Amino acid sequence: MTRGSSTARAAGIVTLVVAGLLGSAYVLGRSLVPDQTPPHSTGVTTSADGPHYADQPSVGEPGGTPSVSASNSAGPVETGQDGSGRDAGGDNLFGAHATTGSPRLALTFDDGPDPRYTPQVLALLSEYDVQATFCVVGENAQNHPDLVRSIVEAGHTLCNHSWHHDVGLGARSADAIRSDLLRTNAAIRAAVPNAPIVWYRQPGGAWTYPVVSVARQLGMTPLHWSVDPSDWELPGANKISATVLSQAEPGSVVLLHDAGGDRQGTVEALRRILPDLTARFELEALPTDPT
Ligand SMILES: [Zn+2]
Repeated sequence: MTRGSSTARAAGIVTLVVAGLLGSAYVLGRSLVPDQTPPHSTGVTTSADGPHYADQPSVGEPGGTPSVSASNSAGPVETGQDGSGRDAGGDNLFGAHATTGSPRLALTFDDGPDPRYTPQVLALLSEYDVQATFCVVGENAQNHPDLVRSIVEAGHTLCNHSWHHDVGLGARSADAIRSDLLRTNAAIRAAVPNAPIVWYRQPGGAWTYPVVSVARQLGMTPLHWSVDPSDWELPGANKISATVLSQAEPGSVVLLHDAGGDRQGTVEALRRILPDLTARFELEALPTDPT
């Protein structure tokens, strides 16, 4: 499963463990990784299980280690996750959109594409004639260009979600942020050369001024969310659907995940959510001409 120098990897693991103990795993972890990691350097994306981003700044994230116990390795996860308590209205959005700006509701699916769950999500959306927005991770787009094409061909829209789900990307240099976002767009465009990519969602919702600025410079509008059932915590389909249905309102941007771990609960929740939401709201893929 591992690739590259075992010595270097061992050193990295040791460093990451120490970093975790120091409570600064993220910062130190990133320092081990060059800005331009070569394709497949992590060995994660080609593993049988696929990537587990876990949406948290755990010790597994920076080094690209296939996080063993993604949901528990960093203790209680309060920050840095896509669905962290950084919901709309906080001061830390730096202008990122948290609603659609219209009466319509938007479903967003993060961290994919994933061959196990993305096709199921696409099938359900098709069944209810709903278009949504997929916030794809660059390395997953590179590994599954067929799924990216399926997303676009079904009328859904795309959102850049960074190359490797780097929750701390916003703390890096503007050049590092720019190259990460451009690399991600290049992987998406390799699959769908003409598809617009006009949205950017920062992993973990960990917005910073630099990441918002760079995204805008590259023609992408920062996209947050307003309804978050924390499906990445695997609360089960009942809780996911109950949260979405109780919190949905006109203009909501709903955060869901079609990758990054076991997402069968999300798929089942979607099966329950769609009949209700489509009866109450007009659903839309976020437009590719945001103003
Ligand atoms: Zn994410």
